[in-house]
Amino acid sequence: EDDNSKKVDTQQQQPKSLEESKREYNIEKFKYVIVGGGTAAYHAVDKILENDKTAEVLIISQEYSVPYQRPPLSKNLWASEDPDVTKNLQYTDWSGKKMDLLYEPESVYGTDALQFIRTKKVIDIHLDQKIILLNDGTLIEYEKCLIATGGEPRKLNFTSKDQEKITTYRTVDDFIKLHNFVQEGDKHITILGGGFLGSELTCGINQNFGKKKNIKVTQVFPENGVLPLVFPDYLSEYATEQIKKSGVEVLNKKLVKDVVESETNNGKLVVKLNDDSHFETDHVVVAVGIIPNSNVAKSTKLEIDPLNGGIMVNAELQARSDVYVAGDVASFYDHSIGQRRRMEHHDHAKVSGELAGINMSTDQKIPYTYQPFYWSDLTPNIGFEAVGNTDSKLKTFSVWEKSNDEKETSNQFTKGNIYYLNDKNVVVGVLCFGNYGKMETARNLIQKGKAVSDLNQLQHAISLEEE
Ligand code: FAD
Ligand code: NAD
Repeated sequence: EDDNSKKVDTQQQQPKSLEESKREYNIEKFKYVIVGGGTAAYHAVDKILENDKTAEVLIISQEYSVPYQRPPLSKNLWASEDPDVTKNLQYTDWSGKKMDLLYEPESVYGTDALQFIRTKKVIDIHLDQKIILLNDGTLIEYEKCLIATGGEPRKLNFTSKDQEKITTYRTVDDFIKLHNFVQEGDKHITILGGGFLGSELTCGINQNFGKKKNIKVTQVFPENGVLPLVFPDYLSEYATEQIKKSGVEVLNKKLVKDVVESETNNGKLVVKLNDDSHFETDHVVVAVGIIPNSNVAKSTKLEIDPLNGGIMVNAELQARSDVYVAGDVASFYDHSIGQRRRMEHHDHAKVSGELAGINMSTDQKIPYTYQPFYWSDLTPNIGFEAVGNTDSKLKTFSVWEKSNDEKETSNQFTKGNIYYLNDKNVVVGVLCFGNYGKMETARNLIQKGKAVSDLNQLQHAISLEEE
């Protein structure tokens, strides 16, 4: 009997199938449906509303919040002095300007032109029937659809399942939760991951709350140094040293085997490392990459990039007629580099979203030939902008500004350019370290696609002077 009742329960929790839902619900129709409510979604909608004055747009998001940008969640918002920052969600940008995290206030959504469905997940898109199925059984018909679903943080399977104390980090809710925790003061926080997110959060929390609120930060990752996927080894080592000097405990070349509850009942977690050492901590943040949310059209299937993950699109960002894909989840052909790529950065989400929006709402079929850039800020002396393919596995050539002070060895990497070359000696990526405003010149260099016969030709390719 027990067994039977369990079976019934699980079945009731199952989402309804397309056929079941069709019998139960009236199907609402929208000219444009955007699956996902992040940066790519917002910028696509912006262009659709600009181009099509009769547009009826629906955004469906599994988050509660209306569209907002993510970069301040690991940087500027942590530097805010506003005691109500978790409510106001305002930050100061690089130029000193006060900015809102939300792209638009709530009041913009909920008109005839633009509807927003929150906290609902799209579980299938039937591409032949042009029907979208939500997790509560609702069906929505579209004429044109954009998939802008981004990615989900990768999780690690630890013995402790305490979701209050072990968190991944991607959303505004994650920021609010972690900020509230840090505000309590006198805590030890352990951040797993040496990539963009792990390193930015480590520095953002340590800089702004380390001394002020007595927060000790430990960063753990398996590689030699931080940003191992983009920095050449020497720079990764240097950046790691700088982070250590700022007061962070960095456990590099260490893998976390498990996280368990402390046996002493003191409410702490125990982090167990692969060298059999362990330590106690109050909170663990897991920042070990994302998995693209590609699996949204299960029943009719879209083509997935076997190498980079993500949904494959053509030059016009179409996966199929009337179905577009933009942002982190899109695998696109990089026109100037000549290879298929997926990019997990803000500028790409913005510009690919805009282009998808234009192609969806006009008769144009514009190819995506833009070369997006990205940036990061860690300690006050580690910040950079980069464009193109900056995979640290590529050959690199670096040009650094010479230090005036011969004895000054600790701060030798203040300003420089790193060129990434493919096997034909063509520059395919550039990272400008402490050297801002050079992305257009770098783009032009990549666009040229010419093989470099003598690497010294790159010495003056991009200026180290402020322009
Ligand atoms: P997202 O912004 O992830 O939006 C996707 C949305 O779709 C999410 O709201 C998601 O919940 C929703 N969704 C997914 N699946 C479904 C579904 N089935 N049904 C309904 N909704 C769904 N990049 C930089 O270049 N510079 C930075 O400084 C920088 N800082 C960052 C800081 C943080 C903390 C994070 C997390 C990322 C940062 N990035 C940065 C990366 C950048 O934010 C992403 O590349 C960008 O957000 C991608 O936009 P997107 O619209 O493709 O996806
Ligand atoms: P990432 O891909 O940048 O870094 C992954 C890192 O995870 C690796 O470098 C490694 O150090 C670590 N890792 C992998 N397995 C691990 C393990 N078992 N234990 C400990 N560490 C492990 O991803 P991320 O840093 O998690 O960032 C998440 C997403 O947010 C990415 O898409 C990233 O591009 C984006 N993001 C971008 C920026 C930026 O552009 N400035 C800032 C923050 C976040």
